[in-house]
Amino acid sequence: MVDERPFIVKVYGRTGSPQCYAVRDFLYRNDVPFEWIELRTDEAARAIGLAGLKDDRLPLCIFADGTRMDRPTIRSISEKLGWFGDPSLTEYDLAIYGAGPAGLSAAVYGASEGLKTVVIERWAVGGQAGSSPKIENYLGFPQGISGAQLAEHAREQACRFGAAILIGREGVRGEFTAGKRVGYLTDGTKIVARAAICATGVDYHRLPVPDEERFHGAGVYYGAGASEASLCVGHHVVVVGGGNSGAQATLHFSQYAPSTTLVIRGDSLKSTVSAYLVDRISAAKNVEVLTETEVTALEGENMLEAVVVTNRKTGASRRIETHWLFACIGGAPRTEWASQAGVVRDEAGYLVTGPDLLQESARPDGWPLDRAPYYLETNVPGLFAAGDVRHNSVKRCASAVGEGAMAVTFVHRYLADG
Ligand SMILES: Cc1cc2nc3c(=O)[nH]c(=O)nc-3n(C[C@H](O)[C@H](O)[C@H](O)COP(=O)(O)OP(=O)(O)OC[C@H]3O[C@@H](n4cnc5c(N)ncnc54)[C@H](O)[C@@H]3O)c2cc1C
Repeated sequence: MVDERPFIVKVYGRTGSPQCYAVRDFLYRNDVPFEWIELRTDEAARAIGLAGLKDDRLPLCIFADGTRMDRPTIRSISEKLGWFGDPSLTEYDLAIYGAGPAGLSAAVYGASEGLKTVVIERWAVGGQAGSSPKIENYLGFPQGISGAQLAEHAREQACRFGAAILIGREGVRGEFTAGKRVGYLTDGTKIVARAAICATGVDYHRLPVPDEERFHGAGVYYGAGASEASLCVGHHVVVVGGGNSGAQATLHFSQYAPSTTLVIRGDSLKSTVSAYLVDRISAAKNVEVLTETEVTALEGENMLEAVVVTNRKTGASRRIETHWLFACIGGAPRTEWASQAGVVRDEAGYLVTGPDLLQESARPDGWPLDRAPYYLETNVPGLFAAGDVRHNSVKRCASAVGEGAMAVTFVHRYLADG
């Protein structure tokens, strides 16, 4: 779909540059209208005041008001957009970490119910859902809605109710004393709150292939690549991953690229992908599905030029020329901070809450209250977990939204307990 809104920023750069990709991805996920202008020659670069295509001031961003930023950081773009704020209160009722569907939902319910609410988000609103080109199974949107738009609506809604959303800030450490949940951000900023919700979701698993890091952002991308689809016109695309997100990404790219290969480890999509997506993939003439196959090598000089895929049963390999590989192979939570703070995690790092903390009905060690932990409460009273980061959660947008809302109900009960 072509974005017809007036652009807020023009981004000049080279395809295959990780820095340019980071800027495009950030703007797309935050639903900021932008125009991407690919520079192909030294002359084109000189025309905008650069030395040439190799000028390390790329990417260059020029905002509608004329502001020019050479090689901007995500923080400087956030500042320009007015999103990079410091906490305005010394103490909040509720601090939410992560602005994916769970965090945004908690922000809407928390702020609308009168809690002084702050949300801390490392990258962009929307989380994983923000990278989805079209969410079709979320209630109330029969034609589907892009993840970025859904996130932007939710952000607007949360802000209208008075929630503060701090973008480009990452929670790295927590301290929990009586009645206070203190979170520390990367730059040392301290967020003090009476209750906190961890809604930090999961981070994508990396492709277990040599050279993955070298090509990350230069041909190898994670998620459904919604910001990149329109750049794939005329190119072959490879998608890896046999879940709904891989299938969704494949269908999206098939509308732009002449051909798309979906690589999956299983022997069929049927057991791991929703039926409506399986039907559409089967019907798509320009989609090939390679089952029982995995990516075993990446090739290229400065950017990805080909991938090698190998059949797990026969061992037969095939080289596919492509500049575009999108991996949708699931993720894992990043909750190292929690173990340092004594918060119970499962073996995979998911936060354990409510009934899952009880062992033969016994409350968790050190639990100080004469009630059991609430359903979404961790073993630290007043610290809740919602969405994909939670042990045993259902990995769906609607479930994350539901848990965000539900967590706020328990926050009220916790605060009322005194
Ligand atoms: C490509 C794709 C397509 C999908 N399509 C669908 C679909 O069609 N339907 C559906 O139901 N589900 C879909 N899903 C699944 C759905 O998006 C997730 O289940 C949902 O986003 C989980 O929400 P969440 O808020 O728990 O976590 P996330 O969406 O993972 O959000 C977590 C947020 O926390 C932030 N964060 C992480 N650590 C920190 C930190 N330390 N400090 C501050 N912020 C932090 C992250 O940057 C992120 O924004 C899709 C997933 C993907 C990847």
